[in-house]
Amino acid sequence: ATHSNGGSYESSVKIPTIKFNKLFINGEFVDSVSGKTFETVDPRTGEVIARIAEGDKEDIDLAVKAARHAFDHGPWPRMSGFARGRIMMKFADLIEQNVEELAALETIDAGKLFGVVKDREIPSAANHLRYYAGAADKIHGEVLKMSRELQGYTLREPIGVVGLITPWNYPTTIFFTKVSPAMAAGCTMIVKPAEQTPLTALFYAHLAKLAGIPDGVLNVVPGYGPTAGAAITSHMDVDKVCFTGSTEVGREIMKASGNSNLKPVTLELGGKSPFLIFDDADVNAAADLALSGALMNKGEICVASSRVYVQEGIYDEFLPKLVEKAKAWVVGDPFDPKVCQGPQVDKTQYDKILSYIEHGKREGATMVTGGKPLSDKGYYIEPTIFTNVTEDMLIGKDEIFGPVICLMKFRTIEEAIQRANNTRYGLAAGIVTKDLNVANTVSRSIRAGTIWINCYSAFDVDCPTGGYKMSGFGREKGLEGLNEYLQTKSVVTPLYNSPW
Ligand code: NAD
Repeated sequence: ATHSNGGSYESSVKIPTIKFNKLFINGEFVDSVSGKTFETVDPRTGEVIARIAEGDKEDIDLAVKAARHAFDHGPWPRMSGFARGRIMMKFADLIEQNVEELAALETIDAGKLFGVVKDREIPSAANHLRYYAGAADKIHGEVLKMSRELQGYTLREPIGVVGLITPWNYPTTIFFTKVSPAMAAGCTMIVKPAEQTPLTALFYAHLAKLAGIPDGVLNVVPGYGPTAGAAITSHMDVDKVCFTGSTEVGREIMKASGNSNLKPVTLELGGKSPFLIFDDADVNAAADLALSGALMNKGEICVASSRVYVQEGIYDEFLPKLVEKAKAWVVGDPFDPKVCQGPQVDKTQYDKILSYIEHGKREGATMVTGGKPLSDKGYYIEPTIFTNVTEDMLIGKDEIFGPVICLMKFRTIEEAIQRANNTRYGLAAGIVTKDLNVANTVSRSIRAGTIWINCYSAFDVDCPTGGYKMSGFGREKGLEGLNEYLQTKSVVTPLYNSPW
């Protein structure tokens, strides 16, 4: 990979000063009860950006109390869906008006590409609000034709106070895939952003207030997982938790629910997604898709196409193409528009990826390109490709969450399906072929929540996403995503002259 002068790119983008560094509870920015703060770091340099109020159990208690009050007594769940939708539309407009500053904050906090965040992720987040705003006044139950002399109907009610726990890789996107349907449903909420990337979530809290979201509806409490996060998941007054993050933490969240009030949970967890390229594929286009599918967002993406399977007829042509493209993939300062890949989110993630790369070499896989850090400052890693990988190697089965591709060869469709499914995960898969029958057969046979045919990472607010197997359960986006924040109440009355 080429490296643009990482960490020192002087762009025309103004690096914003940090305006919001406190907890947002009941419509106010407040210090944490303990007075403690934690650092958030710029992965381009390893330098501290700001100190942020550190939420813990006492702060979560206050936030839940505010959300509970707003739910039980406040206007939000009681106003018309149309009125909620109008406020959400205003919130969306305010986000777009602040897009430059928000994108710059996200870039310095998470090392994400400024252009992508500004032009795609933040506008898409605003559209998530608008999509669900449009659904807010179309939530209704059904009239039931019951088998006895009864009149029955269902009500679709907001589930209550929800805890939304987010990871660091898509701080804006994942915030709004959860907050938007929760708001439309009439829920009130506590968001705990990842400790690595709290900056934009606090800015969104400020904009929500400006838009007219009533106090207590949206609370944002940054802090660490085992303290602030765990306080949400084990809280007796939180009615639901929606979590995106690692499978290990997902397991802790289910336990916390089981040990407290049995709150339902939605879990969006990790993946090790297969990308299957058949002999009839256009090799050049398929290599582009495989590369960007795996390296997008520096490989810190749950659906990364980290296992690339190529049919034997084109494998020998494909491998050098992929390597050539990986070498041309520009790593460097995420503000630089020429750059394809910024720094990994933090030192921990950077060390973890490098240790997987070392492990891959020891396990007997062949590293054909990459493998090294790219700068002595900041957390940059070369795009790395391994061949001779099997699914029982650590690098073939664990989610690395970095710019590392495992390239494998297959012979038949049956083998491709069997190996694609040889994983504990089931988040996504990609298929490249011109043969409709192959595409249809393979997409039905892979146990994963999303299948992309001749494309990859093609998300849309309209299209539900979620996991099979240990990638989690529940769906986000689309109207299915709204259901996660609603519950059904059945109301039954006897008809006139019925035996009741
Ligand atoms: P993580 O599980 O370490 O942390 C996620 C969030 O959970 C953070 O806010 C963290 O503070 C909190 N947390 C940690 N321990 C907790 C606990 N005991 N109780 C409650 N909360 C706790 O994940 P991460 O490293 O931030 O993110 C990377 C992971 O997220 C990857 O596995 C990735 O695949 C997954 N991910 C999944 C999707 C999806 O849609 N399926 C999307 C993006 C990321």
